[in-house]
Order: sequence, then structure tokens, then C-alpha cells
Amino acid sequence: MERLIIIGSGPAGLTAAIYAARANLAPLVFAGYQYGGQLMLTTEVENYPGFPNGIMGPELMETFRAQAERFGAKIENVDVVKVDFTKRSLRVWTDDREYQAESVIVATGASARWLGIPGEERLRGQGVSSCATCDGAFFRDRRIVVVGGGDSAMEEALFLTRFGSKVTVVHRRDALRASKIMAERAMNHSKIEFIWNAAVEEVKGEFKVESLVVRDLSSGTSFELEADAMFVAIGHDPNTAIFRDQLELDKQGYLVSRDGVRTAIEGVFVAGDVYDHRYRQAVTAAGMGCKASMEAEKYLEAREAERAMTLTG
Ligand code: NAP
Repeated sequence: MERLIIIGSGPAGLTAAIYAARANLAPLVFAGYQYGGQLMLTTEVENYPGFPNGIMGPELMETFRAQAERFGAKIENVDVVKVDFTKRSLRVWTDDREYQAESVIVATGASARWLGIPGEERLRGQGVSSCATCDGAFFRDRRIVVVGGGDSAMEEALFLTRFGSKVTVVHRRDALRASKIMAERAMNHSKIEFIWNAAVEEVKGEFKVESLVVRDLSSGTSFELEADAMFVAIGHDPNTAIFRDQLELDKQGYLVSRDGVRTAIEGVFVAGDVYDHRYRQAVTAAGMGCKASMEAEKYLEAREAERAMTLTG
């Protein structure tokens, strides 16, 4: 029986692990096969406090992990495939084992969203990507398209200017959602151009991306845009499939919590982007991981006190 299982290893899960490990709970963290969360897929993080010169996303996550391990967190790079929170103990399954726990922190985060258009899935890895850091370098001196108008799209577009001969941002409206500083950087960059009020409808190419069919949403007409790569940066979906029958989810699939820490099931806590679709920042996720861990600790203490009372009584 584990005292605390943490599912997820982004800033929320690993901060929870640091706090729980320092509280001597020896948490077991299921980090996932692709551990580290979304920051593993980003370049430079400029707004995480404590790093005035910025830090690369993957490097930041390695430091989180090392800090959690230093205090005794056990971290397994495997996925959780099923949970059962209907009984005590709480049960969690990986591919080959069942685990039982007194408490669980769910910090499974969110994953990149795709357009769902013809050619997109078939050409994933052949020019279609959601990760500029991972795949940008394959497109040196090539024509790159980024889809989206938020901070992620601007960040990807700016990063991709290192490689591409030109970076074209295709956005469905005529205004960006991105923060002012990111929008200005992208708009003022000589290599970045924008196609406004437009949607990519199809990715064309036999073995690799060759062009995109783009619809001008104002006129309704479509045109073909030559491109060697399409990076999709249109937001995220929460990773909650395994909790569907176990925990309350909202319409978009995010976990519901009354106070941003607890779920309706005793002993099950939430942290990070799996719950928070408003702020979605590494630093807010880390803060939530800290809160979830402290509440889990309190909960375990109360249970132990109750058990001791029953024994003495
Ligand atoms: P986001 O802010 O939700 O933006 C998603 C963008 O994709 C929007 O412009 C949206 O268009 C567009 N979009 C959504 N679905 C689409 C579809 N089916 N087809 C075409 N376009 C679609 O998501 P994000 O950029 O991933 O950012 C998420 C959060 O992380 C934000 O809070 C952001 O500030 C933060 N973030 C911060 C940084 C940074 O500070 N350096 C970097 C990355 C992310 P509409 O505008 O029309 O809705």
C-alpha cells in the first residue's frame, strides 16, 4: 500500500512529489512514458521565476525531477492505464501491475490538439508536427507554416525562424490571442508573415508535406499554399480519458474541483492543467502541485489519527 501516488510528471506532478517527499511520504510518481509534461516540448522558458536568463523547458523539468528524487520520490516512467477510486484503497493500474494507495494526486496535464483534417495524421512525422523544438531542425531553409494565434503559435513561429526560409502563420481570425509581447515579436520579425481569417483544410503530399489547402474564411475560396512543414499550435485537451467514469469532468473534459485542490472522492486531489484551463502556466501548475501535496499530507495525517483513536478506543 502506497501512502501517495502521483500521476503525472509535469511541473504540477513533480512539485507535488518534491513536497510529499520532503514530508517523508515517499510518493510513487507515475511519470508516463513521455515524462516531464509539455515543457519537454518547448524551447526557452522566459517567465519561470528564478531564471532571469531563461531556461530550456526540458532542462527545467530535469531539475524538478532531480529535486524530487533527492528527497526520496520514487519515479517510474510508465503510463497509468486504469484507476478505480470507488473503494478504499484507491487502485491504480499500469500495463503490468496493480497498485493500491491511500491518496492520489492527479496531475496528468493536457496534450496538443490537432486540426483533424485530411492528410494531417498520415503525414505526422513527415512534415506535420506539434513540436517545433523536436522537429524544427529538419526544415532548414524550407517553407514552414504554423497554425494558431495564441502564445504557443507565436513561440513556435519565432523559434522556427532559426530554420525556415520563411514562416507563415495561418490564423482563423484577424486578431491574435497571444500576449502582446509575443504578438509584437512575431509581427515585427522579418521572416514571419501572416495569413489572417484562414483555415488549413487539407495537407497534401505523398510521402511528405508538399502543400496545404487553405480556405480564406472571408471570401470562402480555397487556395493552395506550398509548404514543407505544418506545425499545429491550437491549444490542448486534458488527459482525462482514464478518469472518465471515476471523477467528475466538465464539458471540455477537464477535471472538476470545488476548491481547485480536492475532487469529490476523498483522498483524490488534482493539480495543474488537467484541471486548470484558465492559467495553464508552469508556475501556476507548480503552485497547485504544492497545494495538492500539502492537502494530501493533511488528509493522511487525519486518517492516521483516526486509526490510532480507533485502536486505542
Ligand atoms: P490558446 O491560447 O488557447 O490559443 C490557441 C489558438 O489556436 C487560438 O488562437 C485559437 O484561435 C486557435 N485555434 C483553436 N482551435 C483551432 C482550430 N480548430 N483551428 C484553427 N485554430 C484554432 O493556446 P496556446 O497558445 O497553446 O496557449 C495556452 C496557454 O499557455 C495560454 O495561457 C498561453 O498564454 C500559455 N503559453 C504561454 C507562453 C509564454 O508565455 N511564453 C508560451 C506558450 C503558451 P482563436 O484565437 O480564434 O480562439
